[in-house]
Amino acid sequence: MPPLHLTIKPVSSNCNLRCKYCFYHDLSYCREAPSRGLLRAEGLTEIMKKAFDYADGSLITVSFQGGEPLLAGKDFFRHFSSIISSLNTKRSAVHIALQTNGVLIDEDWCEIFSKNRYLVGVSIDGDAVTNILRVDTKGNDTFDKTYSALKLLQSKKIDFNVVTVVTKPVVNNISRVYSFFRKNKFKHLHFVPCLKPMEVHDIDTPETFYQYGDSWEIVDNEDFYISASEYEDFLKKTFSLYMRDCIDGRGTSIRLFDNFLRLAHSQKAEMCGMNGHCTPQFAIEADGEVYPCELYCTDKYSLGNIFETDFATLEGSPKAKAFIEESMGIETKCKDCNYYRLCKNGCKRERISLDKCTAYKNFFPYALPHLKRMK
Ligand code: SF4
Ligand code: SF4
Repeated sequence: MPPLHLTIKPVSSNCNLRCKYCFYHDLSYCREAPSRGLLRAEGLTEIMKKAFDYADGSLITVSFQGGEPLLAGKDFFRHFSSIISSLNTKRSAVHIALQTNGVLIDEDWCEIFSKNRYLVGVSIDGDAVTNILRVDTKGNDTFDKTYSALKLLQSKKIDFNVVTVVTKPVVNNISRVYSFFRKNKFKHLHFVPCLKPMEVHDIDTPETFYQYGDSWEIVDNEDFYISASEYEDFLKKTFSLYMRDCIDGRGTSIRLFDNFLRLAHSQKAEMCGMNGHCTPQFAIEADGEVYPCELYCTDKYSLGNIFETDFATLEGSPKAKAFIEESMGIETKCKDCNYYRLCKNGCKRERISLDKCTAYKNFFPYALPHLKRMK
């Protein structure tokens, strides 16, 4: 049985921040009901019972995402700890990850993470100067709170990685961003290209409304989305910093480059989309609605509700199969491409947001010889 991948959104799209590029804010507003409320402890128990039945002893990965998943509260996660012991009669290995803005993290949260060996992803876009798009509900800066959370995780020796959204402020200051991470010994970095809203990616000037305090603001996304040439610039500069650290033996991990390295040495990538197709997974909203991927949690892609069915039925549904099959074909332009083994056309959601192909065709001639030499 292959691993079962669950992404659970215990508080739906609800969040204590209003980051100006939030893809899940945009995506949830493409739905009839943007927020799906809160997942109760009993609902979580039912989901996990069905997950253990389906997995039948094989690996389960559970990733808590939001919105801000910590808004579900400590008791919700303590309940999760208790049920993964009591319900796991066939002894599945359970790997737990959680993606957070870090603002709520305190000693008690660290105890919860530590007990079940969570891998915590903390979103921060570099230092106080470059983290400017990550603001709270009143539009205030959030850097200090997230930075304190990272330092606390580090002092408690909890596994964490830093997740940075690649926007114009980050690309324009990548050396500064990287040296901030290096100075703080944040060694596991994941850079994610900023996604344009799903329904309006073909409009020239997409606009998104955000509420800050009592007022509504139109956020002009053109201020921070990056072009193919900016992405190329980002890749080249960041890769040269990554290589320098490898040579110095500092060993900073950048998830994208670590995966290119694996592919360059004929191993499989661990990142979804980098093996040339989508990975079967279940993204579960707070009301139990299930989608084939966290990036496609819209009404159109709903596979059904886990409280009314089971994982095997959802996986076998025509919509779930079509979602994976659609990603299997190889585009004509890729068939003769020298870089297919590294690129494989990538994640289909990212593809509609950013012309990675152009960036990669200029980046790979520079990176490939180095990747081949590196181990
Ligand atoms: S759309 Fe991207 S992230 Fe989602 S399953 Fe496909 S490759 Fe993975
Ligand atoms: S670089 Fe472009 S043509 Fe080559 S494999 Fe990637 S997407 Fe296809």
